[in-house]
Amino acid sequence: MNSIVVNLMQVRERIELAALAAKREPEEIELLAVSKTFPASAVEEAMHAGQSAFGENYVQEAVEKIQKLAKLRPWLVWHFIGPLQSNKTREVAEHFDWVHSVDRLKIAERLSAQRGEFPDLAPLQVCAQINVSEEDSKSGVSLAEVEALCNAITSLPNLVLRGLMAIPAPSPNIEQQRQAFGAVRECFLQIQAAHDGELGYQFFDTLSMGMSDDLEAAILEGSTMVRVGTAIFGKRDKINK
Ligand SMILES: *Cc1c(COP(=O)(O)O)cnc(C)c1O
Repeated sequence: MNSIVVNLMQVRERIELAALAAKREPEEIELLAVSKTFPASAVEEAMHAGQSAFGENYVQEAVEKIQKLAKLRPWLVWHFIGPLQSNKTREVAEHFDWVHSVDRLKIAERLSAQRGEFPDLAPLQVCAQINVSEEDSKSGVSLAEVEALCNAITSLPNLVLRGLMAIPAPSPNIEQQRQAFGAVRECFLQIQAAHDGELGYQFFDTLSMGMSDDLEAAILEGSTMVRVGTAIFGKRDKINK
């Protein structure tokens, strides 16, 4: 298996090529390295190759890693991207910089209130998660409900609404992948246009979509942040995927 450093170079090259194909600037697309299930040493290895943004799914595992690497902040920026239960919001509010998986008002309210207990921390940067494939098993609000959730987030004092996140159902077919990502982009642009210049929407600039197997399709459809795990760190153990 390739080293993390080589994998990172290859992923960055994929991003550049996809940007080129989409007639976009590669700098418009941020790479989030998804380090879930991998140890702090893997994060450090990626960091030495210039990577600074890391994504985690499991609160307990993430907090241990974040604490272990505390000295490397603020260079390291931590994004929570997994399903979030309300009894875990406090730890997320205390330890993360971003949350991509806000899928209901209750979670947003708890994150804001709990972030407020740490006045030294910047507001939490959040995305509303859309369930674009409308799968029962996936978290996220429907396309129809996401604008209301976004509006509610903008009224919370310790959150900054940054954009939308989506995990479409996996498909081997690039046209199908593009269709799902395109629906998210349409929704993103519509909300952006409807609230242009409005307070709370000044930083609504992030479209978090695309993973190891579909980042090209996501970039073609306007993704500004791809979340890549396997292609950087290798395959995850099945027991804890
Ligand atoms: C695990 C995970 C990823 C990374 O997936 P890969 O296929 O390993 O690149 C991205 N986003 C979320 C929300 C994840 O849970």
